[in-house]
Amino acid sequence: MTDADQQPAAIDGNWLTGRHAAVTGATRGIGWAIAEKMAALGAHVTVMGRDEALLAEREADLGGRFPGNAFAIRTDVSDEASIAAGFAAATEALGPVHILVNNAGIAGSAPFHRMDTAHWNSMIDTNLNGTFWCTRQVYPAMREAGWGRIINIASTAGLRGYGYIAAYVASKHGIIGLTRALALEAAKTGITVNAICPGYADTDVVTRTIKTITSKTGRSQEEALAELTIHNPQGRLIQPEEVAETVAWLCLKGAESVTGQSIAVAGGEVM
Ligand code: NDP
Repeated sequence: MTDADQQPAAIDGNWLTGRHAAVTGATRGIGWAIAEKMAALGAHVTVMGRDEALLAEREADLGGRFPGNAFAIRTDVSDEASIAAGFAAATEALGPVHILVNNAGIAGSAPFHRMDTAHWNSMIDTNLNGTFWCTRQVYPAMREAGWGRIINIASTAGLRGYGYIAAYVASKHGIIGLTRALALEAAKTGITVNAICPGYADTDVVTRTIKTITSKTGRSQEEALAELTIHNPQGRLIQPEEVAETVAWLCLKGAESVTGQSIAVAGGEVM
């Protein structure tokens, strides 16, 4: 049986009916947009994050719109034990995970000469180690099923350098290295592994970055925003839904041969 044969049948356009998608860092921002999109396509969705009030809210929201298809569980991706417990609970609730979206991430800036080990480790632990630990939780079951989609939300910072965010850039480059290596290793198993690299996107991360720029430099909010969007030839922030659409495309029939790629969703910033 080929990978294509194992795709779920389309029922009223719900291509992912019966598949279980786990999305880390799905309480807000890009992760929440991905969770909503996956559920709209018919997937069973596990929402992971740390904010318990938001997790309950998200579960009730998705569960209301897609009865029986939503589960939320506190899962701290910087803590291997929390990840193991989170994925065990998700599997018990909705079955083995077929689609993993490693989205949880943190961003922070520091000039290199003032960067301490705690800053470095926090970026690596959450962004890179978290991706490794979560992937390890689902990979054996995907191999057994002969089908799986692993989608890592990296960044344009995984494809090029930026000043003052060396730890973040290093963590995102690491995610892309992991994506490429695992895609090759998994090539004959029905599992594809890809990274999506958004440019600056319209989420709390950017709101916080704008606050930092205005407080550290005295620039206005408009000037700070212009500094961020200047990298994007389209001159705008990426919308979370644009990233979610790319995730969906990688899961749908027809994308079976797309693996090991780092897909920029960045208005032409990198090419
Ligand atoms: P937000 O800050 O809006 O949301 C981050 C999400 O990650 C939240 O749901 C948060 O959940 C979760 N999270 C953070 N740390 C942990 C942790 N230790 N364990 C579990 N969950 C965690 O971020 P964005 O939506 O903007 O970013 C999502 C991803 O996209 C990140 O990987 C980011 O690096 C990447 N990205 C973002 C860009 C941007 O400009 N916004 C550009 C390029 C890439 P909770 O608070 O519940 O823990």
